[in-house]
Amino acid sequence: MKDCRQFYIDGKWISPTRAHDLTVINPANEAPIATVSLGSSADVDKAVAAAKRAFESYSETTREERLALLRRIIDVYQSRKNEMAEAISEEMGAPISLSRAAQAPVGLSHFSEVARILGYYEFERLQGSTLMRKEPIGVCGLITPWNWPMNQIACKVAPGLAAGCTMVLKPSEIAPLSASLFTQILHDSGLPRGVFNMLHGEGPIVGSAIASHPDVTMVSFTGSTRGGIAVALSAAPSVKRVTQELGGKSANIILDDADLHQAVREGVQACIRNTGQSCNAPSRMLVPRSNIVEAAAAAKSAAEAAKIGDPFLEDTGIGPLASKAQYEKVQRLILQGIQEGAKLITGGLGRPEGISKGYFVKPTVFSDVNNEMAIAREEIFGPVLCIIPYEDEDDAVRIANDTPFGLSGYVTSRDIERARRVSKRIRSGNIHINGLELKAIFGFEPGLQ
Ligand code: NAD
Repeated sequence: MKDCRQFYIDGKWISPTRAHDLTVINPANEAPIATVSLGSSADVDKAVAAAKRAFESYSETTREERLALLRRIIDVYQSRKNEMAEAISEEMGAPISLSRAAQAPVGLSHFSEVARILGYYEFERLQGSTLMRKEPIGVCGLITPWNWPMNQIACKVAPGLAAGCTMVLKPSEIAPLSASLFTQILHDSGLPRGVFNMLHGEGPIVGSAIASHPDVTMVSFTGSTRGGIAVALSAAPSVKRVTQELGGKSANIILDDADLHQAVREGVQACIRNTGQSCNAPSRMLVPRSNIVEAAAAAKSAAEAAKIGDPFLEDTGIGPLASKAQYEKVQRLILQGIQEGAKLITGGLGRPEGISKGYFVKPTVFSDVNNEMAIAREEIFGPVLCIIPYEDEDDAVRIANDTPFGLSGYVTSRDIERARRVSKRIRSGNIHINGLELKAIFGFEPGLQ
């Protein structure tokens, strides 16, 4: 059992104000693997006070000093990358191949990219007689989820450090091992005390105390829409800046001129990768009505080809879901899909055959889904794909936009101009044309076996 009960405040590992232990469970075998402390608002007060003190001097550091710090962090992170991959696989069940190739290195790539940008970033610009100066905003509260733990943490911490901000991080209590290791990496990189502080805890207690704290100038939140709303409400009375990266139910429009088999196969893989626990997963596949039977058959073989099992086996493509709560939510929604009359093509309720322990679910494909069904409206956050038929291009765009979410979207076509035209009509934060550019993001294509 790992002991992760201490918080990192003012450059030191310290015990929480009041003991409140939580046992962390390995989702692959349901065995206890670590203990963390759940903090309180008194712990948040200490962390914020340390960050506020550190801001005075850290905000005055030069670009060169901050660049040197980022480079030291990159070196130490690089030397512990394998340990990081193992911690992530252990705490949230990502296959070790995915953790080594993407989950761990993506944290490093945020630091490298931020260091590259810091090298030339224009902090001051004279516009007429006005000097425009970009200044560090102050103490930042960072609240992150468990599904891509290092991605979420690094993409907040690296730019914060580059800008001259100080910060208090509350990682997900479901994925504390990677966050503790990350904190040790920062400590070993010689970070000035108080610049970065980390404490574990529950969202409604520690997360809310960070969001509402009068000395926190900005909150950056990534997580569920429910959590994002709660954070914005907590932050409002102290009038601080809030950024939110929330959930998704992204549509993947396969146009009638696409290579159907390839588009469906890639769409299924992108949907179930990381056991479907990606905010931008293309979980609604929109296909022309005349192709629905062919698309369902192709999706079935792609889903059934995924190798499910022990995340630490090299050839595992899909691990368990991260927690019991997530397992129960996915089961509830699969049942709801069946009850609402969607056609179950493969997968379904219960664990995959031969697996009796752990939060494993069957990669599941529903076809003939109506966009009004709960499985098409709610973010399932599991390996569950909904295939929805459309009549024509306008109908596809209408269905894609008929969602409370707006995170991501996908369009596949042999005609790039047509794909661009359709994608312009989709109301989402980003659009992927002809597949998720994993190579561009990770420098490789994470497979599913
Ligand atoms: P979550 O909202 O339950 O938790 C996220 C974080 O917020 C955790 O640290 C949690 O403790 C904290 N939190 C929860 N309630 C809070 C509250 N009332 N006040 C303050 N903090 C609170 O989400 P999760 O289950 O950890 O993660 C999955 C969700 O995250 C999915 O909806 C997924 O789409 C989303 N996500 C979004 C992105 C993105 O970039 N848009 C990336 C990854 C995950």
